[in-house]
Amino acid sequence: MPSVAIQPTFEAWQAAARLLLAEGASPDTVEWREAADAATPAAALPGGARVPRQFLDVARQAAGASDPTRWAVLYTVLWRLVHESRELLADTRDPDVRRLNGLAAQGRRETQQAEMQAVLALEQAGGGAAPFVPKGAGLDDLRAAGARCEGCDLFRRATQMVFGRGPADARVVLVGEQPGDQEDLKGAPFVGPAGEVLDRALAEVGLDRRQVYVTNAVKHFSFVERGKRRIHQTPRLPEIAACRPWLEAELDVIKPAILGCLGATAARAILGPDFRLLRQHGQFFATRWSPKTIATLHPSAVLRGQDDAEQARLYAMLRDDLRVIATAA
Ligand code: SF4
Repeated sequence: MPSVAIQPTFEAWQAAARLLLAEGASPDTVEWREAADAATPAAALPGGARVPRQFLDVARQAAGASDPTRWAVLYTVLWRLVHESRELLADTRDPDVRRLNGLAAQGRRETQQAEMQAVLALEQAGGGAAPFVPKGAGLDDLRAAGARCEGCDLFRRATQMVFGRGPADARVVLVGEQPGDQEDLKGAPFVGPAGEVLDRALAEVGLDRRQVYVTNAVKHFSFVERGKRRIHQTPRLPEIAACRPWLEAELDVIKPAILGCLGATAARAILGPDFRLLRQHGQFFATRWSPKTIATLHPSAVLRGQDDAEQARLYAMLRDDLRVIATAA
């Protein structure tokens, strides 16, 4: 029986699981072990092994549970999705699906508790970016100071801090999640594939990107390495909290008439943890930073759409919400 050692992360499990699938290793022939120093394999996607997005979401949550059997459960369900039925998750009485859903619930609970504790500890220690943010500074001085920020661990592996771009008197500020691979290398926000989607949507609704200030809730790229590729990782709550002073400083300088949050992370940072993006997108709310604060999809969500039809639907949602901003601006 092959023994597979992985770092205890969803990404490490996913890379190993892809290789095992490609080799045709059935779940009962694999033993999963956790090892903090295990290398993450560079796995090519096996042809025909696409699984429903719902599985990836639930699996990511289950990976956050502390139960050591979760990797085997994830692989069993993945194997059955590929070899038995793509509709497996709909059978909520199936023992493997029930186990997966239980682990996902446990993972959500434990992740939230751990993140809340980390945020509390950060606030009590006066940590995060706050000591690095010069009081009353303009955008240029903030940007220069940002290059020295060590407010969380993300600065260690990223190429550079990616500060916002745009005029200090912009009426519209758009806040994304965090820099991606291209943004990290180029030092500017929204210059990769997601930036192209944003540019297209802005042009369609008549908003000039040069008149808009664009930034991110978290200023350093967070990623896991898979071979030569750097795969984006969603920032955790403590990283969002640590980086918040930079975003607040930018918004204090600009005082936008309209503040647009692109994606759930930015919406969570600005509109609070109870905000529900899919239910409340496209509506204005008053916040301490702008009387007209609104949220919509992150442009990268469009790119993650499973097929052309879904991508077109997600793009229309983003564009229509940006049109609300353009009309108000
Ligand atoms: S992500 Fe934000 S808080 Fe963390 S090091 Fe970078 S700039 Fe500082």
